[in-house]
Amino acid sequence: MSSTELAALVCCDLGAIVRGRSVPSDTLSGDGGSSVGWVPANLALTPIGTLAEPNPFGSTGDLRLKPDFDAHVRVELGYEEIGVGDGFERIGGRERSPLELVLCDIVETDGSAWECCPRSFLRAALSELEATLGLQTVASFEHEFQLLLDAPPALAFSLEAQRRAEPFPSLVFDALRRAGVAPERFMPEYASHQFEIPVEPAAGLAAADRAVVLREVVREVARALGTRASFSPLLDPSEAGNGVHIHLSLLDADGYNPLYDAARPAGLSELGARFAAGVLEHAAALSALTAPSPVSAARLRPHRWSAGAVCLAQQNREALLRVPPLVTSAGAGAPATQLRLEYRGADASANPYLALGAIVRAGLDGVRRELPAPALLDRDPALLGEVDAARFGVGALPASLAASLDALAFNETAREWLSPLLYEAYVAVKRAELDAAGGVELDKLCKRYAAIY
Ligand code: GLU
Ligand code: MG
Repeated sequence: MSSTELAALVCCDLGAIVRGRSVPSDTLSGDGGSSVGWVPANLALTPIGTLAEPNPFGSTGDLRLKPDFDAHVRVELGYEEIGVGDGFERIGGRERSPLELVLCDIVETDGSAWECCPRSFLRAALSELEATLGLQTVASFEHEFQLLLDAPPALAFSLEAQRRAEPFPSLVFDALRRAGVAPERFMPEYASHQFEIPVEPAAGLAAADRAVVLREVVREVARALGTRASFSPLLDPSEAGNGVHIHLSLLDADGYNPLYDAARPAGLSELGARFAAGVLEHAAALSALTAPSPVSAARLRPHRWSAGAVCLAQQNREALLRVPPLVTSAGAGAPATQLRLEYRGADASANPYLALGAIVRAGLDGVRRELPAPALLDRDPALLGEVDAARFGVGALPASLAASLDALAFNETAREWLSPLLYEAYVAVKRAELDAAGGVELDKLCKRYAAIY
């Protein structure tokens, strides 16, 4: 093998595609000298391979990708580690180079934050939460994905499904650990060759970094086994989709989670209920940032156990926002450390920084405006009559990306979370995807997006 190893300096763009440039690994240095050039119009590149036109950037301008060495990942997947499982082929005859990447901020040439940098967008949202309420965010992104294998799938949730997929599960788990992603579990899921990997919670920015890294590490291990992992929100309209559930709790200066209050329903404090109300109020606009591909809305229809309705619930997987029940058996952690909100309406076509930042801003808006606590829905939202739906405040998510973008356009508060330039670029990318999706049947679109994510 060649002795030069490359490290990729990358950012996650508006369509959640990781792009960047590589440098020899041995030239990386933490002293600020390691940035590489970048071009504003790169942020108008779409996930379908085109440049969105018109876009606000044109051919001018220069930026830098500035590595954040707290988000430096190097994972070696030596050839000798890779065996052959059912349905996998061993590829190549030589060792694979390590996957080395550093997540970057997109900055101006003087090093200051660029107003369209997604990581800076999240940082700003987290700072606002801290400045307003003195609170930090703790989050984790729970991903589902599918291996694109021709072999017939084993049964849902079965041990058989997991064992047939070996060596993928153990290799990927190990690689994620080494990448600092802190995976908690590996689970076979409901759809064909579908798996889920929850990870440990981390501070806001690190949690979103982990989401970016997890996707790339999972893809890398699948590649090394001669297959592909797809995180596309919906591979087959007749099957369950691939969700990204964002779990979120808060920490005050004493390290206490103020979302928890033992005396209130589901243990959700008044502050937590207001935060949840803000997320629900802005749900339609949020979906333009959290479920933003042309196939995303099809995953979010009722009775897919994804997020069939805009409501808050406890033990109900049809709700956009859930308070996972507290485990009280011996050995379980303190309730305040367990209590969190689970936003079920995201998928991997969403940029994790934009998604989490927007959820935080929506929640903060609910707290600021002291919105009333949403009802905790204890039944299937799709079966509510009109009167009950109104009583419980249950609404529908936008039925298409076009409708989500309209909701964002009409929601002045949400639109202003993004700078005008970022908003314009984002809409340009999403409109380009929509134009290309026009008139294409869902089945075909799912295939197109399976090849992208
Ligand atoms: N696959 C479902 C989704 O699309 C999630 C199922 C579950 O794990 O609760 O979000
Ligand atoms: Mg799941």
